[in-house]
Amino acid sequence: MGNTAEDLGPNQRLIGIEGSRAQLATPSLVIDLDVMERNMRTMADIFSGRPQNLRPHAKTHKCATIAKKQIELGALGVCCAKPGEAIRLAEAGVPSLLLTSPVVDAYKVRRLVGLLPDLKELIFAVDSRLAVDLISAAATEAGVDVPVIVDIGIGNNRTGARDTAAAVDLGKYITSKPGVTLSGIQCYAGYVQHIENPEKRAFEAKRSLKGIGDTKAAMFEAFGELPISSGSGTGSYDIDLEADVFNEYQVGSYIFMDVEYNAVTRPDQTAGPFATSLFVQTTVISANVEGRATTDAGYKSFAMDGPSPKVFSGASRETEYKFLGDEHGWVHLPAGEKDLTAGDVLTCVTPHCDPTVNLYDFYHIVRGDTLVDIWPIEARGCSW
Ligand code: PLP
Ligand code: MN
Repeated sequence: MGNTAEDLGPNQRLIGIEGSRAQLATPSLVIDLDVMERNMRTMADIFSGRPQNLRPHAKTHKCATIAKKQIELGALGVCCAKPGEAIRLAEAGVPSLLLTSPVVDAYKVRRLVGLLPDLKELIFAVDSRLAVDLISAAATEAGVDVPVIVDIGIGNNRTGARDTAAAVDLGKYITSKPGVTLSGIQCYAGYVQHIENPEKRAFEAKRSLKGIGDTKAAMFEAFGELPISSGSGTGSYDIDLEADVFNEYQVGSYIFMDVEYNAVTRPDQTAGPFATSLFVQTTVISANVEGRATTDAGYKSFAMDGPSPKVFSGASRETEYKFLGDEHGWVHLPAGEKDLTAGDVLTCVTPHCDPTVNLYDFYHIVRGDTLVDIWPIEARGCSW
């Protein structure tokens, strides 16, 4: 079964029983493994034989089993958003981690650096002297050398050096400190990823690539060629691949595909090469009003920042899913649709995959209708 956790929740009893998917205790988070594997292979195939590499973002799945599969398929390692996520995945045997958010807490930095004897690789993205100081101090104390990349704040400026001069200045600071090695740059143009119109998305992606390319060129001129130029996402990887800026791709959501990403189309107007593999399965617990039914999945079962969940199976795909509070969902059937009854099961596409995953302890892994495994989401809840 590929895991050793003792308690895999109420659905452990169903593993391997033919036709057991409909019997899952709900709400539960379900992965259609055939589809997820196809998505992973499709992305791996795009990169095989290219000079660029994958270093997918584990913020999407927070799961060591999936990270290891990505590495088996050729990824250099995985990215993590937060120290807690990296620590949990390292403890579960993921060997190579890149922290994409700056870490400015001495305790967290020390804990991360303390993982190094058991890791193949640990890379930090930084955008301040404080972050460099903390890593340098922890690395010096531990007697190790840590690769550090400069985060560039082009685009939404969530994090990153403000401009090229600031990036070069921070690069110089890194080269002056013990225990850290300047190893490259990172930039994630988050605002580009979800632009639904393909031409507009390509336009914005190319504009950000121009800025990142200029900063990268200035860094290489100042410090010589650096090994890591990391960035990109599911919405822009194909556009970014046409430009010679990134050599590592931090794509995350492509393995699952949510309502938001399904709306992001490719130039031929198709929704792209990846299909939805992640679902919330929910049960109708009350259906006493015509044309409507109440489910057991509300605010606590879906991340709330995106659009509504989309019904995928169990009722018409035109069914509207609304939230009815913390614990319940409210489905409105299209006119003429046969009413649902208590006990009916629906599967729904998640509005936004990453924060939805963070609400669950386990993935329920199905092939067709059969529950074949349960995988712990080790870094669930680790936003620290
Ligand atoms: N890199 C960084 C820094 C991110 O914050 C994210 C997602 O938010 C990703 C990569 C993955 O992006 P996506 O889910 O768009 O593929
Ligand atoms: Mn996301």
